[in-house]
Amino acid sequence: MSGDPKELLRRYLKQRRELGDDELVLDRHTPAEVRAAVAEGERPRGAAPQPVPPPPRGPDPGDAPERPLHRRAGAPVPGSTPMPQAADSPARGIGADAIRLLPTLDAVRDVSLGCPRCRLAETRRHVVFGEGDPNAEIMVVGEAPGEEEDRTGRPFVGKAGKLLDLLLATAGFERERVYVCNVLKCRPPQNRNPKPDEVEACSPYLLRQVEMVKPRVIVAFGAFAAQTLLGTDTSIGKLRGRVHLYQPTPEHEGVPLVPTYHPAALLRNPGWVRAVWDDLQRVRSTADRA
Ligand code: SF4
Repeated sequence: MSGDPKELLRRYLKQRRELGDDELVLDRHTPAEVRAAVAEGERPRGAAPQPVPPPPRGPDPGDAPERPLHRRAGAPVPGSTPMPQAADSPARGIGADAIRLLPTLDAVRDVSLGCPRCRLAETRRHVVFGEGDPNAEIMVVGEAPGEEEDRTGRPFVGKAGKLLDLLLATAGFERERVYVCNVLKCRPPQNRNPKPDEVEACSPYLLRQVEMVKPRVIVAFGAFAAQTLLGTDTSIGKLRGRVHLYQPTPEHEGVPLVPTYHPAALLRNPGWVRAVWDDLQRVRSTADRA
């Protein structure tokens, strides 16, 4: 590994940005110097440095009023390419409205296990529907299955899963008494970011899971889960630290939602453990009040 301080800084900043954290405390570099370092590190080898754009002006998204996502399950996600909606066709599986009518969690799971509603059906090994107490007070929602989850068909396994279990236990939540799932039920190839049309296709399953489990609190682990459930692009660094409301439709009663860092991010940034611990205490107190 390079010991070049500039390279180390670039890697650190890139990692922070991938995690959705765009707030940094800098005592030895100006913001322009930092952006230049990141831009230089990301350009193709031998390519000319790109001009560094000025920081965006306008209201800070973190100051925007907290507005829950009011989007009908299965309705287009902003920025997505609409997928064909031939509901209940063999090629597309059953439609979003039919998923909303499935009477039990097992029925939703059974349908998901053969789901062809997006391109990830072609590359997955297993559908990772979710698992845990069907009457759980706490629902944990992550981004999407990784390699180990795709191999086993279980959510949050491997190192990050073990750390999740430990974190939950420190807050008084046994894994067996929590319901654990992801926004996407199938693994994106090479763990790439989920695409908006995949989230749109998969969202009826998550919504039905929430409706059936009826958790007192949802914990969104990681930037993607938090931003998807809240319908925002505000960074996880700004979202965490307070309780939000997951309310997918105006008719929906809504569920308190606490965003926090993903366990995989903690493995790379042990200094964030305290923040996650604080967030889980927030989960505990919110569940106790609900
Ligand atoms: S990710 Fe969701 S919508 Fe896409 S195939 Fe898997 S279960 Fe179906």
